[in-house]
Amino acid sequence: MAEPVLEVEGLVKHYPLTRGVLFRRQIGSVKAVDGVDFTLGRGETLGIVGESGCGKSTVAKLLCHLERPTAGAIRYRGEDITKLSGKALKAVRRNIQMVFQDPYTSLNPRMTVGDIVGEPYEIHPEAAPKGDRRRRVQELLDVVGLDPEYVNRYPHQFSGGQRQRIGIARGLALHPEIIVADEPVSALDVSVQAQVINLMDRLQAEFELSYVFIAHDLSIVRHISDRVAVMYLGRIVETGTDTEIYDHPTHPYTQALLSAVPVPDPDARDRRERIILSGDVPSPADIPSGCRFRTRCFKARERCALEVPALAVPAEFRYATGPAVHDSACHFAEELRVVPAEEHGNGPG
Ligand code: ADP
Ligand code: MG
Repeated sequence: MAEPVLEVEGLVKHYPLTRGVLFRRQIGSVKAVDGVDFTLGRGETLGIVGESGCGKSTVAKLLCHLERPTAGAIRYRGEDITKLSGKALKAVRRNIQMVFQDPYTSLNPRMTVGDIVGEPYEIHPEAAPKGDRRRRVQELLDVVGLDPEYVNRYPHQFSGGQRQRIGIARGLALHPEIIVADEPVSALDVSVQAQVINLMDRLQAEFELSYVFIAHDLSIVRHISDRVAVMYLGRIVETGTDTEIYDHPTHPYTQALLSAVPVPDPDARDRRERIILSGDVPSPADIPSGCRFRTRCFKARERCALEVPALAVPAEFRYATGPAVHDSACHFAEELRVVPAEEHGNGPG
């Protein structure tokens, strides 16, 4: 893997759960993020996928220092940024920028496009001399495929896709190294989603960006991700290279998510079983014992209620291309590995 730019270890964010208005008492905690580890390599895209409420936005906010973690480390180029403050923190924040989910609500309607895209220069004036900002903003608009003449227009004069381009231009203003994009296309029409993803793909190559790209659907991140992490109830349950996750998923949750993705090829569609998960996602304030997915799992056995599965596949089952290409937090991952028919007989041993 490429040189790591971001290493996340044991990341936890618990929010206090309180009752009462006059006498606020803490009655528990919402375990929004409950022990997340991953590494982002330079120039790489890590896709983070999971259902609504599984903690994706909380991870994004922690990475961009919009929230402080309850525990854990976020190392940027080897330095734990959760420990930084003041000038040192500000310098790091320049390099990790966020693109928000909803371009309809994340752009101030009373600001011009020029002011929105140039806003980061108000916070980091050292990044661009005042006299140079307008020219830079126009260049940024051009880079994201918008007419530089639009600087004086307002957000309502743009379509959803164009607004997200404005959000991306703002994210690029400080020349960051890492972009954390929190469901950047979820609010857009399907026809526009691919355009914005293609734009982000092109920008990544042009500016050597590393992406954390969040989505609630595995199909959205497929083309842009080098590696994918699937989250469930505040944890990563499976992670691996894109081919491992899409072609050989070993966690029942990933298999269920993939079975819900539309397949264009009718033959493939017939061969594939649709997995319907039972029940609802449990509350992050009341996480099941053992494997947190067991209450909805079609493979759950006794052991699953007793033992928390580690996010790792035993070495003897790691057959793809080397170590750490694929980890799955399931006690029975090895039994569940899906091998496409044409590959049978080519496995290890
Ligand atoms: P996602 O982005 O995957 O939909 P979030 O990270 O937004 O998930 O939320 C994860 C869980 O944490 C949810 O149950 C949500 O209600 C809870 N949560 C998020 N922010 C807060 C907060 N500020 N206070 C209390 N609970 C929160
Ligand atoms: Mg979210």
